[in-house]
Amino acid sequence: VTFASHIDGSPHRLTPERSIEIQELLGADIAMSFDQLIDPGQALEAVEEAMIRTHRWAERSLAAHQRTDQALFGIIQGGVDPALRRRSAGAIAALPFDGIAVGGLSVGERRSQMLSTLDVLAEALGDDERVRYLMGVGSPLDFFDAVERGIDLFDCVLPTRVARNGQLWTSGGRLNIRNSRHQDDPGPVDPACDCETCRNHSRAYLAHLFRAEELLGYRLATLHNVTYTLWLMRAIRAALTDGSYASLRKSVQARYQRAGTEATSPVTDR
Ligand SMILES: [Zn+2]
Repeated sequence: VTFASHIDGSPHRLTPERSIEIQELLGADIAMSFDQLIDPGQALEAVEEAMIRTHRWAERSLAAHQRTDQALFGIIQGGVDPALRRRSAGAIAALPFDGIAVGGLSVGERRSQMLSTLDVLAEALGDDERVRYLMGVGSPLDFFDAVERGIDLFDCVLPTRVARNGQLWTSGGRLNIRNSRHQDDPGPVDPACDCETCRNHSRAYLAHLFRAEELLGYRLATLHNVTYTLWLMRAIRAALTDGSYASLRKSVQARYQRAGTEATSPVTDR
């Protein structure tokens, strides 16, 4: 892949080998194989071509990877086509990766397509015990839908991006700190949260920071949403062991009813 730097326009070339080399230099705990993400709405031939290229690059990534103290995950592609997804799951799972990632979802396809693709993959991967990582997914209800389809691991810009827009995820549901009703509220963002923001600052202060466009506001909101996200994942994990999963899902779902839209949001900068 050759691209121009957004800073000075200089050309850069990224190959599977170079990508692995950079990740080894960064010292990431988990390195990802080099893959081609494609809009699942493209023609099937194009989606298939990107998938085959992803498989070739997966082998080259494995061959280039040298650090033994760093995990390397392979990435399944194949758009929202069940047959391609099955094929990709088979190809990636056959390789000696430390974990298996699902790429190419949450990029603007319908929510039902994302879920049915996860169903296909759960079946295709069967009892493969490696960690399964769903890339680019991260709203509170998404976690439940994906965990129920065998996903262990997530990463997403959503919690931090919505925080910067003033949307806070709390044990009582979403709240928008820009709403005027928070302007004089001396209470914390979330009384159930023990993050730095909730322990030390009021909704009124946060609302003021957002109105004044103070950078601290974005930071405090981000800190809270990341804390909430981690709390939710821990709660899900605990509920799976102690048998209270269904009731946890029900209570979170009641507070996070989806807002009309059926499409996943395109995440371009994750
Ligand atoms: Zn908090």
